[in-house]
Amino acid sequence: MEKINVIRSSMPPFEEYVEEIRDIWDNRWLSNCGPKHQTLEQELSKYLGVDNTSLFCNGHTALEAAFSLLPPGSEVITTPFTYASTTLAIARCGLIPVFCDIEPMYYTIDPEKIEALITEKTAAIAPVHVYGNLCDWRGIREIAAKHGLKVIYDAAHAFGVKDGTIGAGSLGDVSMFSLHATKVFHTIEGGCLTYHDAELASRFKAWSQFGMYEKDCTEILGTNAKMTEFSAAMGLCNLRHVSEYIARRRDAAMRYRERLCRRDGLVLCGEQRGVVSNYAYMPVQIDPAKFGHDRDELAGYLAEREIYVRKYFYPLTSSFPLCQRNFTIQETPVADKISERILCLPLYSDLEIQDVDRICDAILAF
Ligand SMILES: *Cc1c(COP(=O)(O)O)cnc(C)c1O
Repeated sequence: MEKINVIRSSMPPFEEYVEEIRDIWDNRWLSNCGPKHQTLEQELSKYLGVDNTSLFCNGHTALEAAFSLLPPGSEVITTPFTYASTTLAIARCGLIPVFCDIEPMYYTIDPEKIEALITEKTAAIAPVHVYGNLCDWRGIREIAAKHGLKVIYDAAHAFGVKDGTIGAGSLGDVSMFSLHATKVFHTIEGGCLTYHDAELASRFKAWSQFGMYEKDCTEILGTNAKMTEFSAAMGLCNLRHVSEYIARRRDAAMRYRERLCRRDGLVLCGEQRGVVSNYAYMPVQIDPAKFGHDRDELAGYLAEREIYVRKYFYPLTSSFPLCQRNFTIQETPVADKISERILCLPLYSDLEIQDVDRICDAILAF
């Protein structure tokens, strides 16, 4: 039986990429904000419906560039139901993560629990859009405005997601998109920040080239985080196909829903009203009492059938030894429960409907 992985990278046609990188041989401009880089920033601003976009070598460093705007030592209210990167980026900028619980429908930060965590040291809220679901951004915006806090979104899962006509990248002060090979849209490795304040553009650029605004003179504690022209070229190619990638993911996600929605003990994530999703992941919660088996048993059973799923997000970032040693850990009972039950099923742009059926047949027969 053919192996089905949880994720498979989307690829543009080979010839299209070869054609795209031809100029690089002619101009020998391989990195340092070359023409592909500049074009991709402009094209991304258009596609995402945002004012400004800055590219980075990966999403994690982009997130660090955003958190570097905050005064070190201050607190950032975030969620533990995320990838290691969010919590690490906060900690690596000398900030203190404060873990807020999530709401049980869409697994994003619960605005009703944010205010109780605000102290005089709080500088920002760092919510995470998960699986292509959007956070309750209106609730978050209200709290942030009331307390004078910045909002920095981890939008790694939200490329192309919109609330009506509003792009996910324009919701907070700054949003980070990961453009990693496993994401809906990718540049092999890559990431970007989107933001309203145009003056941040020079700061982010300097941060990604050793803190230098002008050549050879470091002004801020930056690093080397530049995207190469080859990555930008991959981005230009993928951007021409991303709508088609998302449409295909949607078809697969719809098939999963149709097949799995009536099985007792499987909780699928609902569609958010008015939100255009990107179908980045196919999360399913396993309720062991009703399903008859727990999440780990289902994952093991599927692996025996060459179907590989991912316990994502498990464990919570707040349970990492690093966090346990260095930070106060707040109680997050909803996140605890969901991370014990959640599983992401295979979903990628060239997943065939027959493969979705094979996965669903296996689950339903368990
Ligand atoms: C992928 C991801 C990141 C990190 O992005 P990279 O581009 O891999 O550095 C951060 N946060 C979340 C939620 C992610 O899924």
